[in-house]
Amino acid sequence: MIGQNAYSFKRLIIAAYRVPFRIMKRHRKPNLVQNSGGLVSAMLTLSQRMDVHFNADFAKTIVWVGHSEHSREDFAPFTGEMSHIDIYPVQIDPAIHKNYYNGFCNNTIWPLFHYFPSLSVFDETYFRDYVRANQRFFEVIETIIRPDDMIWVHDYQLFFLPGMIRDRFPDANIGFFLHIPFPSYEIFRMMQPEWREKILSGMLGADLVGFHTNDYTQHFLQNVRRILGYQTALRTISIRRGIVKTDAFPLGIDYDKFSQAAQSPSVQKEITVIKNMVGDKQFVFSVDRLDYTKGILNRLLGFELFLEKYPRWRNRVVFNMVVVPSRDEIVHYQAMKKEIEATVGRINGKYSTITWRPIIYQYKSLSFDYLVALYNFSHVALITPLRDGMNLVAKEYIAGKNDAPGVLILSEMAGAVAELGEAVIVNPSDRTGMADAICKALEMEESEQTMRIRKMQLRLKTYNVFAWTNDFLNQLELIKSEQKRIEVRYISAEIERNMIRRYGESHRRVIIFDYDGTLVPFARYPEQAKPSSRLIDQLQRLSDDPKNTVIICSGRQKEFLEQWFGHMNLYLIAEHGAIVKKPGEEWVFEADIDQEWKKSVYPLMQRYEERCHGSFIEGKMASLAWHFRNTDADFAFVRLQELKEELLELLTNHKFHLQIVEGQKVLEVKRRGYNKGTAASHMIDQIPSPDFILAIGDDHTDEDLFKALPPDAVTIKVGAFTSNAKYNLRRQNDVLSFIDKLIE
Ligand code: UDP
Repeated sequence: MIGQNAYSFKRLIIAAYRVPFRIMKRHRKPNLVQNSGGLVSAMLTLSQRMDVHFNADFAKTIVWVGHSEHSREDFAPFTGEMSHIDIYPVQIDPAIHKNYYNGFCNNTIWPLFHYFPSLSVFDETYFRDYVRANQRFFEVIETIIRPDDMIWVHDYQLFFLPGMIRDRFPDANIGFFLHIPFPSYEIFRMMQPEWREKILSGMLGADLVGFHTNDYTQHFLQNVRRILGYQTALRTISIRRGIVKTDAFPLGIDYDKFSQAAQSPSVQKEITVIKNMVGDKQFVFSVDRLDYTKGILNRLLGFELFLEKYPRWRNRVVFNMVVVPSRDEIVHYQAMKKEIEATVGRINGKYSTITWRPIIYQYKSLSFDYLVALYNFSHVALITPLRDGMNLVAKEYIAGKNDAPGVLILSEMAGAVAELGEAVIVNPSDRTGMADAICKALEMEESEQTMRIRKMQLRLKTYNVFAWTNDFLNQLELIKSEQKRIEVRYISAEIERNMIRRYGESHRRVIIFDYDGTLVPFARYPEQAKPSSRLIDQLQRLSDDPKNTVIICSGRQKEFLEQWFGHMNLYLIAEHGAIVKKPGEEWVFEADIDQEWKKSVYPLMQRYEERCHGSFIEGKMASLAWHFRNTDADFAFVRLQELKEELLELLTNHKFHLQIVEGQKVLEVKRRGYNKGTAASHMIDQIPSPDFILAIGDDHTDEDLFKALPPDAVTIKVGAFTSNAKYNLRRQNDVLSFIDKLIE
């Protein structure tokens, strides 16, 4: 449903490869012509309904930044005709444009992202000009951007643009939507490391990254984890500057436009023309752009087999196959066109009679009226791409049907299949399956046809293109407020000044640091994460101050802490509170360290050490830790879930009251009853009325510490994660800068 939305943004900027209009010179008088495509028609309709869609103070004009050979001045005479669209053309030098658009976009990304890696050309000059072209888009945006704009960047031609905008305007509101599939890691990593890293980083310049389906979203998350090493939780990615959200938004259609057009006199006229031509025969159609992803040849072969296998249908069915011209300046497309035409000729030659031609082939663009007439009249739609991000024709067919019966045969490789489960689903390479599906569709009871179509119509009517726009913009609004919620807690200059003032005015301070991820960055193996001389010097100076009690509160074993800090004036907490030490004293056990339980847990963990290459067990005095930092993140995730499940089963019946603790890429089993919080509180209790408590940590286990401290304690979480701590620092390195300021 379309409802008015109260956005905090005040203006919508669309950045897409193409502007929505072009200027044609007919009979010397220039004319404005609308470019085709789902996005264009969605945004044009949206621009005409700004009052309905947006709150009163939202700009009534959508700004559109896109490539065009015309200038802004060329478009000026057409302002009235362009409804509420204000065009800012991006003009690109033709030589750069060729490498950018035909080259990197359509000869590198398009085939690779549609799982045709053998057709992908990896050419340095293509990539160089792709960057230059994105830069041209940025230069135009740079001149018009305002703080309360929402910039919605579209598709694979502009992967770098969100990152470029973010670099210059860190607070900009940016959404990115990809209209093609996002491939799995195995395919994406065929691209050279520099390119794939830059593509992902460019996309992550956005606040929200949208895809058509959940599969594409998951592929993207997988690539982000494995290539950039960022952590993801559900659909949120934690990157240095904060969080980025990603989700599935299946592109909808303007349902009413197709449904209503089907009843219009001009479409009815086209239907009469088709009817007269087809007579009493059944009518099958397909419409797609000329592209190897569309499975046009496979479809022809499937149709041929259908004629061969079901001779009863010969002379009773006509297949109207429309191929819309596209990219035919690329050599591969020309060759494919020739092959399609030869195959049509061969099949027609084989089966035609004097009164019947099985395939009517058209290589042309269709008028809207003829397209809707095809949708409404045809008995079967044969939409069988080998790979398609979404496929709008399938959705438009269902809408254009209106009350008429009909059957949609849909490839399981089209993104649309996720929403169109009532279609007859085929695998586009399965010739026999396709032949059988055509027969099944032609012979399906009309009541069943209607039942299936109605169900799909209901879905498409509800999640139409306006609901899609709403959904995306609402999610963007949500992620911005979520970011603000976290952002507020980053330590600002003012908060920092206040903290330092409080520190200066206090006399009995307690300062608690977690070790790994807080005082030192993570290393491949725990023993490599040694304290730097800068850190040792800082701790020395902090603990030299008689007003300070400095505690290192770690999951590390006592031997490690003893080796590096045992000689210093520091309180040490090892193994999450199991063993503690005051300066100059011996280590004392806070927890019961009965080792008996390890006999059952260790063999289980050992099995997972073997089953997950690169993982290892750290045997501590009071706990057992399974580290998976050096493993493939996705595989480790699966093993982690399995190990947790097995451990839970084991621990439920365990008399030792054990607990599973999850840290940064580590799972630990320990006895219940103590944690970093209990141990630190115990130490603080021994200090007479401290007047300043500061705790800094990055790990899940530090949450116990933050929770246990009194309300006026200053608690700081390292990283962009929500936490029980009051404030966040962005990076581990910021901790050391912060300590410097305290010391000063
Ligand atoms: N279309 C068009 N002219 C034609 C035939 C089709 O504008 O002659 C439209 C059709 O209505 C649909 C779009 O082109 O909205 C094709 O979208 P789809 O997702 O099916 O495929 P794409 O071409 O984007 O790969």
